Amino acid sequence: MDPLSRRNMLVLSAAGATAAATTAHAASYGNPDEPAQGAINASTGARRDPGPQNSMLVSEFPDAFSPPPTDVGGMAQIWSSFNNAPRRIQAGGWARQVTEADFPMSEAVSGVNMRLSAGGIRELHWHQAAEWGFMTYGGCRVTVLDEKGRAYVQDIGVGDLWYFPAGFPHSLQGLGPDGCEFLLIFDNGRASEFNTLLVTDWFAHTPPEVLALNFGMPSDAFRAIPPHDLWIFQGKSPGPLPAAQAAVDSGGVPPHPFTFSLGGMTPRRSNRSGNVRIADSTVFKVSKSIAAALETIRPGGIREMHWHPNADEWQYYVKGQGRMTVFNAGPQAQTMDFRPGDIGVVKRNYGHYLQNTGTSDLVMVAVFKTDQYAEISLSDWLTHTPPEMVAQTLNIDPALVRRFPSDSPGFLPT
Ligand code: MN
Ligand code: MN
Repeated sequence: MDPLSRRNMLVLSAAGATAAATTAHAASYGNPDEPAQGAINASTGARRDPGPQNSMLVSEFPDAFSPPPTDVGGMAQIWSSFNNAPRRIQAGGWARQVTEADFPMSEAVSGVNMRLSAGGIRELHWHQAAEWGFMTYGGCRVTVLDEKGRAYVQDIGVGDLWYFPAGFPHSLQGLGPDGCEFLLIFDNGRASEFNTLLVTDWFAHTPPEVLALNFGMPSDAFRAIPPHDLWIFQGKSPGPLPAAQAAVDSGGVPPHPFTFSLGGMTPRRSNRSGNVRIADSTVFKVSKSIAAALETIRPGGIREMHWHPNADEWQYYVKGQGRMTVFNAGPQAQTMDFRPGDIGVVKRNYGHYLQNTGTSDLVMVAVFKTDQYAEISLSDWLTHTPPEMVAQTLNIDPALVRRFPSDSPGFLPT
């Protein structure tokens, strides 16, 4: 048991002795349900877990092992992770994924975490779903062709996005000095990175005389094509960007770029407790099916209580650590802990907050399957409702309601 967990247990033991001696703190502030839930309502023996137990894993999830007594109901798990997803490793890089098959909450989108070495190539391919990417390390060259034969080649770095509409053929290649790592999203929870339409597969499964006719080549021109697909392979350095752009510049320029700097945007909201940058189709024009929010929460801060009326929120934790409680009708409330490489999902309209539980910044990128980001703030709603209505509902002084934040601060304390 790590020191933090041990300390928590000692605190709980002290509280528990009192709680068990009296009766459960039922139907009270901070512990509302009958029968009363939470470790504070159980004896030391009752709340102990004799095992079997993986203590390393348990110590990572204090809020699952001992949920706050406000948690209630049977919401399906809101947590998943790339950390324990099997990596498919090949020369040139690797990928791992979490789809709806792995994580039932992830219906709207599936997620892939990929690494390409310097020169490593994710082979030319296309697929049924649209693809959205977010670079977390290093740099990458993207190539894509639109439906009017207009080519786009660009180099991108940390904090940048790309978006390839469904069916648009594309490739990715890691740049120097150390390639890249990124998050990739498909706008369909069932889409798999391991089942895409690969150019090598099509060549290998087309009669050689048809290949020769199609490309106007002698019949043996393709005798050395790969008999199996490459998927990810080690390539050579791609060379200077202007030369690559010039080499494909024949069919005109796409009207909107397929890449965008999310990290370089001005935050939509920013204060001493955090900031959020938002990239949806209003600014990143091609991104018709995915909107994204890049959130930083400072130590001691929370992302305010809110919900999203138009889409599920799919979260990728990049830095730091935090806990989130998700609320739904029922009532249902589930609190869970998140660390880098973890994934969270909040279904559409489910209330939630996110709290930084560490000593460094918590950074999380949230993805929504929608063309426009939308959010409703709890405090904004309650301060734009007649105060007497709110005061009577919550049984508090109307003067207090008037002191709620009325400007959707995003992050607290302000
Ligand atoms: Mn792709
Ligand atoms: Mn949210």
